[in-house]
Amino acid sequence: MIYLRCISSASQLQALQTSLNRSLSTTIHVYGHPTVLLAAAVIPPLYITQNLQLAQLRFKLHSSPPATIQHFLWQLWQPLLLLVPLNTIETRIQTAVCHVDIAHRDPDSPLPQNVNMAKILNKEKSYEKYLESQCSDQWRKHLELTLSDPPGRERAYVHWHLHNKHKCSMYKPAPYLTHPSRPYQLELLRLRTQHTIHIIPSHLHYAFKAPRVDYQDRVCPHCFDKGTTVLGDEICITCNCLATQGVLQQFTAKFQRLTRLLDLPPFASFTPDEKTRMVLGNPPPQVLQKGLHRWIMEATPI
Ligand SMILES: [Zn+2]
Repeated sequence: MIYLRCISSASQLQALQTSLNRSLSTTIHVYGHPTVLLAAAVIPPLYITQNLQLAQLRFKLHSSPPATIQHFLWQLWQPLLLLVPLNTIETRIQTAVCHVDIAHRDPDSPLPQNVNMAKILNKEKSYEKYLESQCSDQWRKHLELTLSDPPGRERAYVHWHLHNKHKCSMYKPAPYLTHPSRPYQLELLRLRTQHTIHIIPSHLHYAFKAPRVDYQDRVCPHCFDKGTTVLGDEICITCNCLATQGVLQQFTAKFQRLTRLLDLPPFASFTPDEKTRMVLGNPPPQVLQKGLHRWIMEATPI
């Protein structure tokens, strides 16, 4: 992973991404949409990480002390940049910088404030942090594009789970990958159960010998009885459908108690959209960091 910057061919990077997706799926036993899984496990796609590494390399070369060989070579490259072939590391560095840090395309332009303020030894680390935030934004935008797609599993996931303030950095892997303790395992269990949303909560699985219906074609079977065609998505099943909203009512007392304990607005004041997020296991944005552990332990819907 550290040497992604050395891979020059897009097809090699794609092959690596495919095997990473497969290995992640088999390790955590979640076999849904690969992009959704990467977002849930907070692992950005390799092409974004590669851009980060290349931009970081440029910073390292540009800021190296003038007496070093790399600084000499870096100076030597500059006038040649326009002449070198497209897939050399020099051109790839330039392209990567344009993708992840366009504001500093010119290496002599002023650095971000946190990098300027850092001590000499910490500057590189601090620039990496800055790039991570830029790359997180790029990854988030990449995911948000799916929101304009027709209804589908991926779009639904992004809609319910992306805007979670506790996932502000897309470079901090999901804790269940690194900490084997209980609340985090709950999170993993939630992911495992929700990736089978093809059968939960209302739709018949193809094991019943009928072909599996695409997400966007899954009309709510209860609302359908009444002659309408309503998409049987999470919000219908949780909040809107008369036939199934009783399930949420069973848990309302628990959510009411929890919102009171953690000093949150009353549960009834949340919109159906927000309630659905909570039911799917996302803490409401108002939860403070100190209340988060309790929220995960008590509200995770398992
Ligand atoms: Zn319904």
